[in-house]
Amino acid sequence: MRILLTGGAGFLGSHLSEHLLDAGHELIVMDNLLTGRANNIAHLFGKDGFTFLNYDVTNYIHVRGSLDYVLHFASPASPDDYLRYPIRTMKVGAYGTHHTLGLARAKKAKFLLASTSESYGDPLVHPQKEDYWGNVNPIGLRGVYDEAKRFAEAMTMAYHRESGVDTRIVRIFNTYGPRMRKKDGRAIPNFINQALAGEPLTVYGDGSQTRSVCYVEDLVEGIYRLMQADYHEPVNIGNPSEEMTMLYLANKIIQMTESESEVQLLPNAQIGDDPKVRQPDITLARKLLGWDPKVSPDQGLRWTIEWFRAN
Ligand code: UDP
Repeated sequence: MRILLTGGAGFLGSHLSEHLLDAGHELIVMDNLLTGRANNIAHLFGKDGFTFLNYDVTNYIHVRGSLDYVLHFASPASPDDYLRYPIRTMKVGAYGTHHTLGLARAKKAKFLLASTSESYGDPLVHPQKEDYWGNVNPIGLRGVYDEAKRFAEAMTMAYHRESGVDTRIVRIFNTYGPRMRKKDGRAIPNFINQALAGEPLTVYGDGSQTRSVCYVEDLVEGIYRLMQADYHEPVNIGNPSEEMTMLYLANKIIQMTESESEVQLLPNAQIGDDPKVRQPDITLARKLLGWDPKVSPDQGLRWTIEWFRAN
């Protein structure tokens, strides 16, 4: 198949790119390298069927030839990034989604939107199931990302319902693994790099907020299966197996890296409306895709620590 992937030079996008090329598909990656890095896909240049286009998908997109799939993954996704680029985050969620959907319609291609657990905001229902509508502050600092993705979901359903575009929506929960940027700002790369450098681990608030973390290879497998499924409403993909507090995660990383670092509690005002709990209900993905995450946080964190040590 001939596939267009926006955001393919990002952390997730680069792993998905690899997976798609390994499965024998022809792949066009479009990325403006705002938060993605050419380095993430450097090893794919020169592979059969791989093309990279440095392009900002908030502009009109023109692609020559036929396309079987359009996968829209472009967006800043770390809270640090979308706080730094709030307008560009809204533009890629709004105009970027509009353009990629328009392209899918014109090419009669299948479409998949990378959405997020942030669609649920600071959830009042726990664990989060797809039929929960969420608790989002539209004007909070995180609103730029949450509302952009919620708009993107609404736009995707509008193209599906009005124009019959064959769409899918994945709601991605916290994911980690090799190729996250050292200064990405998210908890896992921050904690690992702080622990390896012997610096204090910056836990925001009192550290009692929870997350459930998924190793990137599990996530990519779930997304690949969803691409091929005949289902149009959102599907959660994440690893619910060990919901943990950020204080527990920080201490776990200190132990695993055998670091002398200590935990430092910092006020979390700068990240605004930080969800207090998060755990995906993946009953739907299990049933629909026959998918289940396989990598435990212990194993995945070990691999990720090794990667950061080596890089
Ligand atoms: N967090 C933290 N210290 C950091 C970075 C993040 O305590 O150095 C917390 C953050 O407040 C949130 C959780 O870790 O409660 C997960 O944050 P992350 O940025 O990884 O992703 P999010 O789930 O907020 O999108």
